[in-house]
Amino acid sequence: LKTIDMRRAPPARGGFLSPVLLGHMRQTLEKKEQSLLFLNRRGYAPLTLCRVCGHRFGCPVCSAWLVEHRFRGQLVCHHCGHNERRPEACPECGTLDHLVACGPGVERIAEEVVAHFPDARTIVLSSDLMGGVRRLRLELEAIANGEADIVIGTQLVAKGHNFPDMTLVGVVDADLGLANGDPRAAERTFQLLSQVTGRAGRTGKKSLGLLQTFQPDHPVMRAIVSGDAEAFYEREIAERERAVLPPFGRLAGVIVSAATRAEAEGHARGLRRAAPHAADLFVLGPAEAPLSLIGGRHRFRLLIQGERRADMQ
Ligand SMILES: [Zn+2]
Ligand SMILES: [Zn+2]
Repeated sequence: LKTIDMRRAPPARGGFLSPVLLGHMRQTLEKKEQSLLFLNRRGYAPLTLCRVCGHRFGCPVCSAWLVEHRFRGQLVCHHCGHNERRPEACPECGTLDHLVACGPGVERIAEEVVAHFPDARTIVLSSDLMGGVRRLRLELEAIANGEADIVIGTQLVAKGHNFPDMTLVGVVDADLGLANGDPRAAERTFQLLSQVTGRAGRTGKKSLGLLQTFQPDHPVMRAIVSGDAEAFYEREIAERERAVLPPFGRLAGVIVSAATRAEAEGHARGLRRAAPHAADLFVLGPAEAPLSLIGGRHRFRLLIQGERRADMQ
């Protein structure tokens, strides 16, 4: 297992795959073995914007950007399912053909792979595959039987099936899960990436896992590369103990949602005022929830933090 420092080995303009990763993919192809590229993001691009006026396509009822699904020709909200056709002109300024896709999803990585390796057999695995579970099972079988050279997949590929010829696993964006501010982010990223990179080398063939990252010194990256799960958990446990986070403390989130922002905030404030005072409990907030609008409902969040023995209910 190795990290690829994306600051030192950046992708070509408009691309997302480092020349280091592409080089290893080429060698793997030459050996007639399989590569897996992992990116936990469905669709083509997580954001679409107008190059002329800067308009960004957001969901009308959520505080989230619409994800482009190019194959279906749609912009889709991954939180509420809202979808619309991707227009040719900007709805804001009316300019034609100046919408740009920002950032990668698995469909876009597939496009880049095909441009580099036009003769390789490439498969994209993601939960919005047409044909559902049955189709997915067929695709997994095809991969296990060696009918694909390069597999590009979301979380779905982390579990299950054994792929005996898969000797290269590339994580396109190892930093993706670390950015969300959840106290469990480090642990989850560690588990997911360990699982994904563990896909390589189950049959004794020489294999390699590569993590594309902008933070190769991050404790999560170091722990994965060193394979030292124990050291990672020790560090994580010490940090949680210091911050009185679970399992050393208790943490509860209460979401208040309402049709208007003012109502949601008002109720959340009222709830805070009504909270019984206890020496071993703190109430934090209310603040806008990480996703402050879902399906037209405005959301505020209170966090209640206490010691392990505190009676929260
Ligand atoms: Zn525009
Ligand atoms: Zn939505």
